Amino acid sequence: MTAHSPKPADHQTSARPKLDAARVDRQRPLVQPWPQAGSIGTTLLGPIGSGDGIYVTDEAGRKLMDGPAGMWCVNVGHRRAELADAMRDQAMALSYSSPWYTTSAPSLQLAERLAAHAPGDLDHVFFTTGGSSAVETALRFMQFSNNVRGRPEKKIIVSRQGAYHGSTYLSASLNGRPRDLNWMDSLSDKVVMLSCPNPFQRPSGMDEAQFADFLVDEFRQVIERVGAENIGAHVAEPIMASGGVIVPPAGYVKRMFELCRANDILYIADEVVTAFGRLGHVFASKDVFGIEPDMITFAKGVTSGYFPLGGVMISARLLEELRRSNHPEAMFAHGLTYSSHPIGCAVALKNLDILEDGLLEHARAISPYFQKSLKTLEELPLVGEVRGMGLMACVDCVADKVNRNPLALDVEVGKRIDAHCQERGLLVRPLINMCVISPPLIITEPEIDRMTEILSASIRQTMDDLT
Ligand code: PLP
Repeated sequence: MTAHSPKPADHQTSARPKLDAARVDRQRPLVQPWPQAGSIGTTLLGPIGSGDGIYVTDEAGRKLMDGPAGMWCVNVGHRRAELADAMRDQAMALSYSSPWYTTSAPSLQLAERLAAHAPGDLDHVFFTTGGSSAVETALRFMQFSNNVRGRPEKKIIVSRQGAYHGSTYLSASLNGRPRDLNWMDSLSDKVVMLSCPNPFQRPSGMDEAQFADFLVDEFRQVIERVGAENIGAHVAEPIMASGGVIVPPAGYVKRMFELCRANDILYIADEVVTAFGRLGHVFASKDVFGIEPDMITFAKGVTSGYFPLGGVMISARLLEELRRSNHPEAMFAHGLTYSSHPIGCAVALKNLDILEDGLLEHARAISPYFQKSLKTLEELPLVGEVRGMGLMACVDCVADKVNRNPLALDVEVGKRIDAHCQERGLLVRPLINMCVISPPLIITEPEIDRMTEILSASIRQTMDDLT
């Protein structure tokens, strides 16, 4: 086990004034996730009091469009009575049962329905409490499986720059964003990083097809160098979400998958964001990218964020290999008190009903409008690229549009745009110099128009701030 030694931030700096300190509210006893050391206990936005459809209302009574659907999760929108009823009914029937020596009807039903939706032979599911625990479970399962099969050295995990896979120790060790790794320890001896498949930042002189070749070749070289006998899995978000909605070059996902198959490396698709309608399907791996991974991790949209639940779809082939080993002692000693939580599973079943009852079709039908509308923001000088797929998109701002030169990190364009959007009634998710938009799937065309108008005005205002 090794740790990254803390590096001083290698940030470029700018002479820009800091964001308005008055917007940061008073200290609170709540430590929110991902706090900056100097601002622990403060928050940029006061409590959200209520939500309805694609809107939330804050403490001050301000109604805001929920541009990021919470954290890419409120897929069916806020305040769905069906989900609240499912939660209450299940709590009154059975609030909890041990996931180890009992099961509950909702967990069995949900497993069956997910198996029916999942591609290939992914017909089993291990439920977890969220995305990090799903990725952690998939990785520990890979380790266990290789131990049982007598190849304990086959454990290296291949991840990518820009990836985000969670906040538990092993899952976080796969994260490829500098700020995730620079100040946090990680199991770096277990992980090999590949390049981020971001066509917008591809090396100059390469077209997209050549970039795809370059990325696949890089993986091939890693396999040669490290040895397929030492590599257990490749973990990949089909579209990198928190890394800035990275839509990889055409053919890349399939070719990476085929390379894994050819080398007996498990392909784990991290669909924590892309599943449950975000790309218009329950799972995107097969329907959008044409692959049948060995495992798929999911969370977020499975309950539309109404209850914490996640899981891993696991290939029957992998389970059969374990059964055949019939090892007298080997136990997959891994589980969570809240695995298969009956309330979470009941909510997920109702959520699936809503998705299947026209919402997946709606998401598929409205996605081109959403992408086209946001794409118009590229006419603004600050915007280098608007990219996305389905109902997820990112506005990537640059210092120089022609050469795609990045802005200094402390310009915090994302936060500035978000602050201006809030004044006009829209929440977006700032990511340094990018903004992410991934609204509830129920969004309509007029709401998309309004969202784009607000973003356009707020980006213009940000440009004025910076001159
Ligand atoms: N994987 C991906 C692709 C994610 O985007 C996230 C969270 O954003 C996670 C895993 C971790 O999920 P959770 O926050 O539910 O633990």
